[in-house]
Amino acid sequence: MKLNISNTFNTNLPADANSKNETRKVFNACYSNVLPKTPSNPKLIHTSNNVAALIGLTKDNLNSTSFLNLVTGAFVYPNTTPYAMCYGGHQFGNWAGQLGDGRAINLFEVEHKNKHWALQLKGAGETPYSRNADGLAVLRSSIREHLCSEAMHYLNISTTRSLSLALTGNQVLRDVMYNGNSAYEKGAVVCRIAPSFIRFGNFEIFASRNDTNTLKALVNHTITQHFPNSKANTKQGYLDFFKSVTNRTLKMVIDWQRVGFVHGVMNTDNMSILGLTIDFGPYGWLEGYDHNWTPNTTDNQYKRYRYGNQPNIALWNLLQLANALYPLIEDAKALEAILNSYNDAYPIAYLKMMRAKLGLTTTDTADQDLINELETVLQLTETDMTIWFRNLSNLPKAYKITPNNSPLKTILKDAFYTPEKLNNEVTKKWHIWLQKYLIRLQREHNSDGNRKKIMDAVNPKYVLRNYIAQLVIDQADKGNYNLLNDIHDMLKKPYDEQPNYEKWFTKRPEWARHKVGCSMLSCSS
Ligand code: AMP
Ligand code: MG
Repeated sequence: MKLNISNTFNTNLPADANSKNETRKVFNACYSNVLPKTPSNPKLIHTSNNVAALIGLTKDNLNSTSFLNLVTGAFVYPNTTPYAMCYGGHQFGNWAGQLGDGRAINLFEVEHKNKHWALQLKGAGETPYSRNADGLAVLRSSIREHLCSEAMHYLNISTTRSLSLALTGNQVLRDVMYNGNSAYEKGAVVCRIAPSFIRFGNFEIFASRNDTNTLKALVNHTITQHFPNSKANTKQGYLDFFKSVTNRTLKMVIDWQRVGFVHGVMNTDNMSILGLTIDFGPYGWLEGYDHNWTPNTTDNQYKRYRYGNQPNIALWNLLQLANALYPLIEDAKALEAILNSYNDAYPIAYLKMMRAKLGLTTTDTADQDLINELETVLQLTETDMTIWFRNLSNLPKAYKITPNNSPLKTILKDAFYTPEKLNNEVTKKWHIWLQKYLIRLQREHNSDGNRKKIMDAVNPKYVLRNYIAQLVIDQADKGNYNLLNDIHDMLKKPYDEQPNYEKWFTKRPEWARHKVGCSMLSCSS
């Protein structure tokens, strides 16, 4: 197994002088060298051929013992020095101080086909940033990360990727719902890859400590490596960089809203500087369309990270990043202008995205109202977001709604969780909306067939519904990985019709409504 090692982060930036693997505050350094914990009985569960190809690995490589050892931390690739990054973060709106890679260990960076990738093990043991935790990850959360990062990629949403999922052979103690019921679970490790794992929090930590030298070194490194259109070491370059991060973050959030993805923990330490979806913890997909929904029970009280609030939180997080960059720029007006541009651009981008979901290729001044009204009717009774939008593309322009002929009873029927609640009043509201939509469609020049194509390209048929992930986990816990293989495969073509996977295009079953892991998730992982 030969990789083209090309380190930049740990060759350009200052290291922690202390090489002991003990919990501590780390100053004036971007990372600490640390070795992964040796797994007691490593076993590969699943790998992604497509991710392997990105870094120049073949199928044969994936079957080798050296690959297993590499991605479980059993062995360190020659001439590389693994490390954990130092970062801080705002958690649930409050500054939390130093956090850092408490259970992620960066192996090295590789260059392949002119692309640069960093490899990171998640769950490979303690680091100086582990605080009072164990640095490990359990199988259930590792499956969720492995599947979801790939699901996001194939949904065309920018994200970190997952190369492999393996068992370590170690047992890990977790209290799943934080209610005093600790139990041992199977330990696992994911090897994830991304052009960089730098987060907003990597910048915040140095700003919070007035360590402008290290902050500057990190910003210049990030620009040089990842933002070639910005000029390092110049005020304008820093502003351009911030503008690019703002644009990328906006794009990522719009895509989340499009597919109904709720990240669950949008703390600034979970915000990638590259606008990648990162750190798959208590995330979930909307089943019933609901702006107030969050899968994260830890956030139940204020629902800070609820679906409808993600765009605001992204902006709040960008504001924290702007504060962190301020010492290098010292121009509050210019930074504010960029933040304001997010506020201006978001509604425009959202409108464009929603038009696409509705198959509208032309613009009409009433579209905004049409969309607002849709969001209201979608929330009148529990309505499955994925099914509703996907099936809407089957509505012919010439459809005539009559008391005996309603899309609610035909094309859209499967999207409603409680059809008994579609009473006269609700039905009337739906029909008013659908009637407006049909009239609006008359102004489109597209055929029904073409509109369907356009809509099906942005409204996925298959997403990683929370209960599907849980079924995979339940099987895998018993050592059966068939469903894991199937779902990984299915999620590669989320926009295609896949008759062999049709059974996963259904509403969440009732048994999953209140089941832990399906609708309730904590940060325990
Ligand atoms: P998260 O909520 O997963 O984004 O984690 C927040 C912080 O806690 C990060 O600094 C993580 O590295 C750290 N962390 C989470 N779980 C563990 C763990 N089991 N061991 C050590 N650090 C952890
Ligand atoms: Mg995190």
